[in-house]
Amino acid sequence: MSASTLTTQNFTWHIASGLAPSLRDSSQFEGLLLAARDVRRNAYAPYSNFLVGSAVLMDGNLYRGCNVENASYGATICAERSAIFAGIADGGRSIAALALTTGPQSGTPINQRTPCGICRQVIAEFAEADTPILIDAGEGASYAGEIVSLEQLLPWRFKL
Ligand SMILES: [Zn+2]
Repeated sequence: MSASTLTTQNFTWHIASGLAPSLRDSSQFEGLLLAARDVRRNAYAPYSNFLVGSAVLMDGNLYRGCNVENASYGATICAERSAIFAGIADGGRSIAALALTTGPQSGTPINQRTPCGICRQVIAEFAEADTPILIDAGEGASYAGEIVSLEQLLPWRFKL
């Protein structure tokens, strides 16, 4: 698999091969990443200790969300849906880009840093095939992480 990179003000990103993600809002990518890292500190995850932060650009506005767990585990919500639903409640309908982070440490396997299946389907409800998903690689390095398209994350997705 060949790959390309994107350089923004302070970071370099890896662009996954396949259906290329849109880069038209790349000037917002660093802001989204830093917002996701910031809101992660508010995550409520006393049961898993797996803190996640997400930031989404919807109709020109940035919304943040973190995971919120519950003693009744099924009531838990992920950071991505938390952020998206905040945007929807504010009148947003179209996702231009979404960032998420699962922690400050680097070296975490990619499969522990990507959105879960439920969140992928929720992203698909409000996004296009080339909508970029920014996956944090960890803090403290100039390498920011991976940029993948929704199509890469959820091919053959359900849509009415
Ligand atoms: Zn999820």
